[in-house]
Amino acid sequence: MTRVSRLPQDDATCGWYAMLPPPAPARRLKGRESTDWAILGAGLTGLAAARCLAGHLPNARIALIEAERVGFGASGRNSGFAIDLPHDVVHGRRRARDTLLEEQRRRRRLSQAGVAALRGLVGSHGIDCAWRELGKLHGAVEEGGLRALEDYARGLDALEAPYEWLDQDRMQAVTGTGYYRKGLKTPGTALMQPAALTRGLAASLPANVELFEESPVIAWRIDEAIELECADGALVTKGLLLATNAFTPAIGFLKDRFFPVFTFSSLTRPLSRDEQAALGGEPEWGLIAGDRLGTTVRRTGDQRILIRNTFLYAPRLHFGEGELARLGELHRRSFGARFPMLGEVAFDYSWGGALCMSSNHALFFGALAPGIFAAVGCNGAGVAMGTISGALLADYVVGAESELLRDIRALPRPKRLPPKPFLGLGVGLTLKRRERRAGKEF
Ligand SMILES: Cc1cc2nc3c(=O)[nH]c(=O)nc-3n(C[C@H](O)[C@H](O)[C@H](O)COP(=O)(O)OP(=O)(O)OC[C@H]3O[C@@H](n4cnc5c(N)ncnc54)[C@H](O)[C@@H]3O)c2cc1C
Repeated sequence: MTRVSRLPQDDATCGWYAMLPPPAPARRLKGRESTDWAILGAGLTGLAAARCLAGHLPNARIALIEAERVGFGASGRNSGFAIDLPHDVVHGRRRARDTLLEEQRRRRRLSQAGVAALRGLVGSHGIDCAWRELGKLHGAVEEGGLRALEDYARGLDALEAPYEWLDQDRMQAVTGTGYYRKGLKTPGTALMQPAALTRGLAASLPANVELFEESPVIAWRIDEAIELECADGALVTKGLLLATNAFTPAIGFLKDRFFPVFTFSSLTRPLSRDEQAALGGEPEWGLIAGDRLGTTVRRTGDQRILIRNTFLYAPRLHFGEGELARLGELHRRSFGARFPMLGEVAFDYSWGGALCMSSNHALFFGALAPGIFAAVGCNGAGVAMGTISGALLADYVVGAESELLRDIRALPRPKRLPPKPFLGLGVGLTLKRRERRAGKEF
């Protein structure tokens, strides 16, 4: 048996999850089960893979296995942007422009398909997750942020993707704060409550998908079939899809391609009517910083402010106990700089979540071993990209063909990482340097 080296240990302080009613007791994997297919990880990628595979194979028995509760992992603790564009729209200074543009077009088609798939499911199953098609803002404060914003706009031009510029006054008219000197708005991104979305997707899975929660897989082996061992049971399956994102190396795959990085959010209590009046602006919006290491901000429909920033290299897939308190302080500073008119609005929640990074921001899609396939590494844009990559992985294993499948298979593969001590030093230093450089965008 190959032992899984680390299991998810997410903190219990994610606001999105805490605001939902408690779920019904979990069905755990007990005894010895046997299925045609198993999907490991019930985040957005695994949920999409399970749904799509069940559609292809209505008579197959499909198990979806999750270590925690659905919505408790990164898919339920992100900032709730379902983004219809590549995460980094750049205009090809370093790589051959045509190749890069072709890649960005593919990423855009895939992201758009991911958003469309989610929109369709939210609509057809009536998933109550505050889904709002408001587009996204990008805001810049200092020269570095402005340059990044202009770069982004050139990338959008090359993609012929629509956007509009917003000057400082218009940014203030939308966000209420005069903090941003310039902004840019792209349509097509949806904002939502991510834990509610993830839970709603799980609740509407096809009947031939059996969901096992609180069932971490602790060991596995490939014999005539694939055997997965959990604490109270085991599952034997003919085929396995890995949708375990940052945990994939801990399971024993792609160790030399991906490394985990945590990022952190805080969510305030709802603003009072007086505070809403003092803030002004539109009642709901989402903003990404011009500089990619800057601060994401959202004003939610229930009038809370979300702050997300800071990246922490965490090879043990865990962060220390003091980290959330430290992050809460950093978030308070970012909040105070943007919203001085609101004073000390308390944060109700602060939490962290794992991202899965490769050195060239590439995802892995395809076969890993006989009968084992994976879609992992959608980085900070996994809401839409994870959804579409999971669905396409199901297409791939049943031999379906599509333009989107050709798109995802044509994307660059993750590059080999440097050895561990150099990787840790390199990532740690790069993150620190770039966060410092982000300045007031932070
Ligand atoms: C704070 C934060 C903000 C973000 N904001 C955004 C955003 O606004 N927009 C966006 O597009 N992306 C965002 N992201 C990234 C996005 O959340 C991820 O890309 C996405 O959740 C990836 O989905 P996934 O299903 O591939 O992985 P995950 O959601 O990580 O799911 C993997 C699942 O596998 C399970 N698992 C792992 N190991 C085992 C095991 N041994 N046994 C059983 N189960 C196991 C885990 O418990 C987990 O539920 C953000 C991420 C964070 C942390």
